[in-house]
Amino acid sequence: KEQMYAEIRNLPSVTRDGVPISIQLNCGLLIDLPHLTASGAEGVGLYRTEIPFMVRASYPDVTAQTTLYSRIMDEVGHKPIVFRTLDVGGDKMLPYMTGGEEENPALGWRAVRIGLDHPSLLRQQLRALLLAAAGRPLSVMFPMIAEVAEFDGARRLLELELKRLAAQGVEPPSNLRVGTMLEVPSLLWQLPALLPKLDFLSVGSNDLTQYLFAADRGNPRTSTRYDPLSPSMLCVLRRLVDECTRHRVSLSICGEMAGRPLDAMALIGVGFRTLSMSPPSVGPVKTMLRSLDVAALRQYMSGLYTGADHSLRDKLKTFGKDHGV
Ligand code: PEP
Ligand code: MG
Repeated sequence: KEQMYAEIRNLPSVTRDGVPISIQLNCGLLIDLPHLTASGAEGVGLYRTEIPFMVRASYPDVTAQTTLYSRIMDEVGHKPIVFRTLDVGGDKMLPYMTGGEEENPALGWRAVRIGLDHPSLLRQQLRALLLAAAGRPLSVMFPMIAEVAEFDGARRLLELELKRLAAQGVEPPSNLRVGTMLEVPSLLWQLPALLPKLDFLSVGSNDLTQYLFAADRGNPRTSTRYDPLSPSMLCVLRRLVDECTRHRVSLSICGEMAGRPLDAMALIGVGFRTLSMSPPSVGPVKTMLRSLDVAALRQYMSGLYTGADHSLRDKLKTFGKDHGV
């Protein structure tokens, strides 16, 4: 298999009917980054900054964070990378951070909620990112944003750090892009107010599925009960594609869904053109999309969104078989 993927690494990531699809990587450690060259991915669509925090014995200070982010940027070189701010809590606990027991950790004090309640923590991370990115491009993404006010709050902290560093004579990033993850369904109803404020949006389908269906992603009894290839989820995703196109906001998806070939096929059918996935998924997804006729798939899917199906998985499988995908 490795050899097969090595063979397609340098082939264009374009569907059979000529639609370019950008394949990006989800990473969290320095050792993940060599995959960027090995896989032929176009960039890092999701860098999970919490992973290096999780493997340490204590909270890294600004200097330690700056050194790390700088090394990551050096390693990635000219390819784009999106840094997601700390997404801890829920299923990702830091051994040295105690928030007290919670009855529903997935619905609890996590991700940007912690950063907004303890601005100094988020500001330190943003400062480190800005210091590392002096004179080079920087894309920052906030996790678990549930309403526009939270995005505004996080963005304000970024502006404060920008001002602080400017006063110290630190060169700003050559190009600063700010985005958010779409993981919490409430945000779907604020898109007209949210999108004009964003440079990009990335769907976290792991959490979005969990919150859309009220089904714990870590509990096998509930996590497999609902399918991201359900009409309701696909309707949500299609609406996002429409709204982001209207507002000219770049849209991607970085949940695990994007790395499963059949799900990735559906996402392309819905209108996604940027998929971010873990390194082992690149080969299988690229193989799939190079044999896909998007126009035929769109046509096939157009009648499926409003049905009462539990899942469209079987129908999409049949389409794939019938069309040599
Ligand atoms: C997601 O929720 O889909 C996502 C990409 O974030 P994480 O899996 O790190 O929660
Ligand atoms: Mg998430």
